[in-house]
Amino acid sequence: MLPTRGYATKGPTSGLEPFNFERREPGPHDVLIEILYCGICHSDIHQARDEWGGAIYPMVPGHEIVGRVARVGSQVKRFKVGEVAGVGTIVDSCRVCESCKEGLEQYCARHIAWTYNGTEQDEKTPTYGGYSSQIVVDEHYTLKISPKLPLANVAPLLCAGITTYSPLRHFNVGPGQRVGIVGLGGLGHMAVKLAASMGTEVTVFSTSKRKEQDAHRLGAHDFVVSLDPKNLDALANRFDFILDAVSAPHDVNAYLNLLRRDGVMAMVGVPARPLEVQAFSLILKRRKLTGSGVGGIRETQEMLDYCAEHNITSDVEVIPIQQVNEAYERTLKGDVRYRFVIDMKTL
Ligand code: NAP
Ligand code: ZN
Ligand code: ZN
Repeated sequence: MLPTRGYATKGPTSGLEPFNFERREPGPHDVLIEILYCGICHSDIHQARDEWGGAIYPMVPGHEIVGRVARVGSQVKRFKVGEVAGVGTIVDSCRVCESCKEGLEQYCARHIAWTYNGTEQDEKTPTYGGYSSQIVVDEHYTLKISPKLPLANVAPLLCAGITTYSPLRHFNVGPGQRVGIVGLGGLGHMAVKLAASMGTEVTVFSTSKRKEQDAHRLGAHDFVVSLDPKNLDALANRFDFILDAVSAPHDVNAYLNLLRRDGVMAMVGVPARPLEVQAFSLILKRRKLTGSGVGGIRETQEMLDYCAEHNITSDVEVIPIQQVNEAYERTLKGDVRYRFVIDMKTL
């Protein structure tokens, strides 16, 4: 076994603190990655605090992982020692169900090994995430990273990037369309960059007036302060597609009403409490409300290659791991531009 250092939380109300644990020795198909950077996703906070239920402790969060390959198993074909590699939210799945065969591992019918707060395919061995010195992952679930991009800024692509890229692609968002992005946080700011790069007209809906300049810099055409209902009413029936990336309970009807006939609103944010949907918000214009989960391995690689080609990365604040608890508090206050990334050499 490989002694590994990390930060873990021991329960929903304890903070993160240093934690030593062991990873498996790399098997024939495994890659051992020395972690350089790990992003802080709001899902880390939801799960560390057990807001979605079923949390497994001790929990080492982190699923926006970039590092350097330190060792490869005898059968590994796609990675060499010294190369840059990434790991996102999934480290294994059944590989044989319909979804896995289609490269949609995030919708695996049997068992997904989430990068942390989950179990391996034996459904017993707990998984530990990227707030740690190293990780061992099957090469099939490991991503190639272009060394030409700044690595701290690449880390958030492994979750925030793919979670916003996947629905934009799936719903064929493109030139001539009006797209709304609700919530300018880690996911939201990636959604703005990606949707703008795909040639759409992007409007940001935010509760934070102070983010207006940033929204335009990121590529938005319009910025709407969502706290005043009058601002939303003026935009009724206007949008082809809306991506909702809000982490807390809010009124989704206010946004559904902004969709044109047959328009689509996709939820990626996961508030801890259920949301109320007025049937009329959907019925009157045959609108569709859907959701989207991260992205499969193949699509994650496609997104990373797309971002390298279009020079798209995340806006980050790099922090030492000793500031992780403070970073959680600041994320909850919306006080981050636009993703905290932990520099793992500070561990
Ligand atoms: P984040 O950086 O904290 O951003 C969330 C944003 O939501 C905030 O910046 C804020 O934007 C807005 N917001 C927060 N509280 C609000 C409230 N009470 N009312 C209205 N707006 C509010 O979080 P993130 O990392 O982007 O994650 C966003 C959500 O997506 C989380 O729930 C996370 O778990 C989920 N997620 C889902 C997937 C998936 O596969 N579907 C993957 C990753 C993350 P403004 O300041 O602009 O209003
Ligand atoms: Zn995430
Ligand atoms: Zn499967």
